[in-house]
Amino acid sequence: MQEIDRQYDVVIIGAGVGGGAMANRLADTGARILMIERGNYLPREADNWSVKAVFHDKKYTTRETWRDRSGKEFNPSTYYYVGGNSKFFGAATVRFRTQDFEELQHEDGVAPAWPVSYAEFAPYYDVAERLMGTHGTAGTDPIEPPRSGPMPYPAIGHEPEIEAVAEKLRKKGLRPFPLPIAIDRHDGGACVRCATCDGFACKLGAKNDSEVRLVGPALKTGRVDLVLDTKVERLLTDPSGKRVVAIEVTQGGQRRTIDGDLFISSAGAINSTALLLRSANDKHKRGLGNNMSDQLGRNYMAHNNTAMMAINPLRRNTVKFQKSLCINDFYLANSVKPYPMGNVQGLGKLQGGMLTANLKWAPRFLMDWFTTRSLDWWIMSEDLPDPNNRVTLDTDGKIRVSYTPNNLKSHGDLVTHWGKLMRSIGYPLIITQKMDITVAMHQCGTARFGKDPATSVLDTNCRVWDVDNLYVVDASFLPSSTGFNPSLTIVAQAVRTAEHLVRDVLKAKTAA
Ligand SMILES: Cc1cc2nc3c(=O)[nH]c(=O)nc-3n(C[C@H](O)[C@H](O)[C@H](O)COP(=O)(O)OP(=O)(O)OC[C@H]3O[C@@H](n4cnc5c(N)ncnc54)[C@H](O)[C@@H]3O)c2cc1C
Ligand code: SF4
Repeated sequence: MQEIDRQYDVVIIGAGVGGGAMANRLADTGARILMIERGNYLPREADNWSVKAVFHDKKYTTRETWRDRSGKEFNPSTYYYVGGNSKFFGAATVRFRTQDFEELQHEDGVAPAWPVSYAEFAPYYDVAERLMGTHGTAGTDPIEPPRSGPMPYPAIGHEPEIEAVAEKLRKKGLRPFPLPIAIDRHDGGACVRCATCDGFACKLGAKNDSEVRLVGPALKTGRVDLVLDTKVERLLTDPSGKRVVAIEVTQGGQRRTIDGDLFISSAGAINSTALLLRSANDKHKRGLGNNMSDQLGRNYMAHNNTAMMAINPLRRNTVKFQKSLCINDFYLANSVKPYPMGNVQGLGKLQGGMLTANLKWAPRFLMDWFTTRSLDWWIMSEDLPDPNNRVTLDTDGKIRVSYTPNNLKSHGDLVTHWGKLMRSIGYPLIITQKMDITVAMHQCGTARFGKDPATSVLDTNCRVWDVDNLYVVDASFLPSSTGFNPSLTIVAQAVRTAEHLVRDVLKAKTAA
């Protein structure tokens, strides 16, 4: 069994962007910090960039299965490593909009207001962008929220094919701009701008994921211990139920407990819920965080996501890094309809083998023909919180994700409209694929933060309302999914929570 002390000041569960940012921000407080990660380091190896290894053999995906609403088992596309899902992310690090923090009327319902405003949140986005090393050009996004200055690094630029598309879109009256992206692509950077980034891990360590940007620097301080291949099974409270006193872990088939003063669950929106539900006891019969509102696990969201191939049979698309362009002209009420429709961004370049991994019947030569001629897009629209979309545990302990997508009309209309636009600029053949429940990449909302303990699981600092020393800092806290990639906002909230802990909790503890 790996060496772990028996007692820590702060115990962080999970080394994704939420947990990584917490460790990073708390590392120099003098507190003894333990990070516990159920996975290990992802090896940097040739297979990182292999379509066969990543998409066909699913070498890096968890083997775990969850169940859907009907009880059918599925294998989620989720990753358990130091760095969590960010090892495979597309590195789009985008701020949510001012309007996302307010009540926002959608065609299918209302996205609720957040308990904090964008203005309050903005300084934490500044820090988050620096931590993640975001590249972009401030002032080019037509609906950009106010910001204090430029992005940490200049935009990575478009390759000629993408620049040409951007120009055609501008002629159509749209305002495309550089997608903010967190890869090490600037003078002296390690990124070689390859075609296997979005959905792959980086064998050069040049993707700015949580391992590289957050956990690594935290460990370098020497004040954070990281224990690997160790799953946290339960949080144990004192008899009053008001404080967590220890965690129960399994490591190498053995169980043990580790004591601590402060506990942070950063296991991801689905696994943090599962952990809090598994920790039910006499004082918390429905799971920790569920006494006051019965909201834990509810309001699960994951976005309405569609991948689109726009094909010009007469022209090869030789682009390598395609995820450089973004379009927000339809994000809020717009010329097509008086409701938000979503965001359109470049998708990592598709390859024939990526398609045949799911479409087993499809002839490989045909898929290669399509993908060598396709422009590939990721079309993402907001799904709305619904208490019946819910993560629960079955009696055998397996995770159940009961999810029925909503707000589909706006998403469908955006896909249709984008297809028409593509045809009008020279891509006559359109193929789309809507993502299903297995694509849990943008999971969020299961422990939303709020001002009212009757309707939220966490207070505005992400502390569980009725447990004094338990925080949830990962995608769980989002009260709405918005139409954007979530990782930058998870990091910003972690920075915010860490600031609160340093100011109000750890200082008080040191002074006592
Ligand atoms: C292919 C792909 C592309 C993506 N592209 C983008 C993008 O371009 N931009 C963007 O913003 N987002 C993107 N995302 C989403 C983004 O990666 C996630 O939103 C983000 O990483 C979630 O961070 P998290 O900290 O909430 O959770 P996670 O990343 O899930 O981290 C949780 C960690 O906790 C560990 N863990 C879980 N349970 C336990 C337990 N019981 N005990 C101990 N450890 C545990 C896990 O192993 C994991 O390391 C993408 C995701 C994928 C998969
Ligand atoms: S594009 Fe850069 S960061 Fe992404 S996988 Fe390739 S080398 Fe790594």
